[in-house]
Amino acid sequence: MKQNLVLFFLALIFTATTTFAQEKYVIVIHGGAGVMSRDKMNEELRAEYKAKLDEALTLGEQLLKDGADATEVVVKVINVMEDSPLFNAGKGAVFTHDGFNELDASIMEGKTLNAGAVSGVRDIKNPICAARAVMENSEHVMLSGTGASEFAKLQGLEIVPNKYFYTERRYESLQQLLKKERERTSKDNMGTVGCVVLDTKGNLCAGTSTGGMTNKKYGRIGDSPIIGAGTYANNKTCAVSCTGHGEYYIRLGFARDISALVEYKNLSVDEACRAEIDKLSKMGGTGGVIGLDAKGNIAMEFNTSGMFRGYIKSTGEKDIAIFKDEN
Ligand code: ASP
Repeated sequence: MKQNLVLFFLALIFTATTTFAQEKYVIVIHGGAGVMSRDKMNEELRAEYKAKLDEALTLGEQLLKDGADATEVVVKVINVMEDSPLFNAGKGAVFTHDGFNELDASIMEGKTLNAGAVSGVRDIKNPICAARAVMENSEHVMLSGTGASEFAKLQGLEIVPNKYFYTERRYESLQQLLKKERERTSKDNMGTVGCVVLDTKGNLCAGTSTGGMTNKKYGRIGDSPIIGAGTYANNKTCAVSCTGHGEYYIRLGFARDISALVEYKNLSVDEACRAEIDKLSKMGGTGGVIGLDAKGNIAMEFNTSGMFRGYIKSTGEKDIAIFKDEN
């Protein structure tokens, strides 16, 4: 009798722990890093940003509860931010020197190391969807420009005229920069979006979507669509999405370096992200990064005065913040 009771309790503990393990999930998002001050961003605007980040996290959580995998959640969460004029991705992207919007995006799965990206596209409404299509339905990792658009069309993705991405604010930002002839690109690109997810099956995925940098020329491509620079995911190490001055991130192999620090130096994801941000600072670069490992440990690091950011966990923990001195 006593033995049966012990067995019963052991079974109960086993069921409880496996159920918890299956239900564990985490989402971390960013909406860009940069120079941010409370003076320049009034309370109303701050609330708008926070509400949009909250909408993205809430949708992602519901999808995970409904059994969606990490890839699906990364795409859907990023879609919310791409469709919002607040961010430098999709609608509201920054302008090139020639007055167009040229978008980049990438996605990577931690289980398979499959990845997809598009760069310099002008008419794909949601570039992260095109990145996913490249990953799942092509033999390539990155497609660019008109070829990427042609592929996206064949995949049945929504194509829009370039003016769909127009916002007054970003256009003005280009005009300001064109007046100061010597500045090549602006630091006011804030708003690249990214998402890393741990799903209930223990798989990681990372995605990033951006308009790049204001006043970019000659088909300039930043880190965001480059696997290993702006985006990386490996179940064995971590999932990473970056935002900041892309040229530095490319030169550092930023996202992949974080994964390597976790893999070869046994650093935690947070330690690895911090170490990489230190390298960025030493080189004179600015920006931020979000990271997540398969155990659900998160990182949100940046060397700017702010980064739009947030996370939500199956434990009920949740936070959304903008400035460095928050949380
Ligand atoms: N990393 C992006 C780029 O260099 C810009 C950003 O994240 O602000 O294109």
